[in-house]
Formats: sequence, structure tokens, C-alpha cells
Amino acid sequence: MFAYATLVTNADYALGATALARSLKRVSAACPLLVMAKPGTPGLDELEAEGCIVRETGKPAMSTAFQARHSRASQHARSPFTKGEKPAFHDPIDNFMKLELWRLTEYERIVFIDADAIAVRNIDKLFGYPEFSAAPNLYESLADMHRMNSGVFVAQPSENTYERMLERLDTPDVFWRRTDQTFLESYYPDWHGLPYTYNVLQYIFFNQPDLWHWPSVKVVHYQYEKPWQRDHPKRDLLAPLIDLWYRVLEGRPIPEDIRAPEQ
Ligand code: UDP
Ligand code: MN
Repeated sequence: MFAYATLVTNADYALGATALARSLKRVSAACPLLVMAKPGTPGLDELEAEGCIVRETGKPAMSTAFQARHSRASQHARSPFTKGEKPAFHDPIDNFMKLELWRLTEYERIVFIDADAIAVRNIDKLFGYPEFSAAPNLYESLADMHRMNSGVFVAQPSENTYERMLERLDTPDVFWRRTDQTFLESYYPDWHGLPYTYNVLQYIFFNQPDLWHWPSVKVVHYQYEKPWQRDHPKRDLLAPLIDLWYRVLEGRPIPEDIRAPEQ
């Protein structure tokens, strides 16, 4: 049995997951979207009505010291974000809940997708990829090809893996500067590379327009600022992608072509 999965810990990401669920339906995805959710999050009933499997999920065990080091204030002070802004509703501690995915052992394979991403073409093929497959963290320059982005990945749930991960996660003084992403990159140093088209980070649109080739784009990932934020500094640069996200959310037709601005 296969499933797509995402993570939702507050109302903002529940809205994101709604767009993701609708995007998967739009491209006739063969598997349902399982939503790992913090219990009591507003919007979960609506996600169920959307056809999602909502699974209430706890946090992996993390010591008080670990949580303090990875709190929003501490993470932003220790390793500031210089390329873009994280919305106020983003809590870095919640990112570690992605690891709970390895406990969903009734599934043979799971394709995880961040709640701030949408599929624009069918990606069922990803279920044929091995653990651990992910795309590069490409959004500024090709120098980042060797880094991994944890917004889309293929995993094989296993309690054994989960336990081994938890043994590594919280050791004295450890600081995972980009939370689950840095942890997974370190846990799977020889991760299999998916083509970047399976996780096209929105900044590619204005930073690397040569790599924006609409017919090849399979997943658009709105890293940093979210398309549903009322105001954000990159709104004008990203206008066509924000429009795309709303069209998917609202079930309106999407453009046949989306071109990056001439540089
Ligand atoms: N997430 C969440 N609540 C939070 C932070 C993160 O539900 O407070 C989930 C959500 O699925 C989100 C993912 O974890 O898409 C990773 O965070 P985000 O996408 O904001 O990080 P970015 O892609 O900007 O690095
Ligand atoms: Mn994301």
C-alpha cells in the first residue's frame, strides 16, 4: 500500500494541505493524501471532507534542551535566514514531526510532500523510487546541487529506522540548523537524487529562470514566503506562481504555460 503524506500543525498549513490535496486530485493521483496532524488543529474536518486520511500525530521525543535550541527564536538567532523570510506561523520544532512518518508501517512506501507545495503533473512514478530519494535544494545557484531539500521525499516506513533516527536526533548540544532537512541529509548522506523538477522551489522562478521550464515542472514548492500570506516582500516577483496556487486551491483552470520573466 502506498500513500502521499504531508504534515499540518496549524490552520495556515491546513490551508496549504487543502491546496496540495486538490492538486493531487487534479492530476489524478493514484494514492490518497495522508495528513499527519497535530491533534485539534483547525481545518482537519475539512481535510477529511476533501478525501484526506487524517492521522493525529505526536512529536518525536525531544529533550527540553533540544527544544530550546530549536525554538523559533533560538534557531533564527543562531542561524539567521538571509535569503528569504519564514512566516510567523512557522514553528521549526514542528518540522521534526516529519520523522513520525517512519512509523506508518502499514504503508510500504510514502511520498512526503510539504504542505506548502502543489503537484501540477502526475507524480505517481515516485512510488517506484527507493528510500531515501529527494531533490536538490536548488533555488539560488548550481552550487547548491549537492544539498538536499526535504520538501519532497520517498521513504519506506520502518519502526527500526524510526528508532535509529531517534537515537541520533537528540544528542547533547546537537543543533540541526535547518531542522529535519539537515537531520535527514546527515542520516542519509548518500540520498538518491530526484530530478529537481519533482521539487521546484519557487525562488528558481526569479533567481534561475533558465531552469524554469513549465512543461517539466511537476511540483511547485513555496519555500520561505507562502502564497496565502497577505503581504510578503516577494509577492510581485512571484505573482504568476501565487496566481497558480490560488487557481489550484479554488479549482479554476491553470495556465497552459507559465514563463519566467526575461532577465
Ligand atoms: N510545518 C507545520 N507547522 C509548522 C512548521 C512546519 O505544519 O509550524 C510542516 C508543513 O507541512 C510545512 C513543512 O512542515 O510545509 C516544512 O515547513 P515549511 O514548508 O514552512 O519550510 P520551508 O519549505 O519554507 O523551508
Ligand atoms: Mn516547504
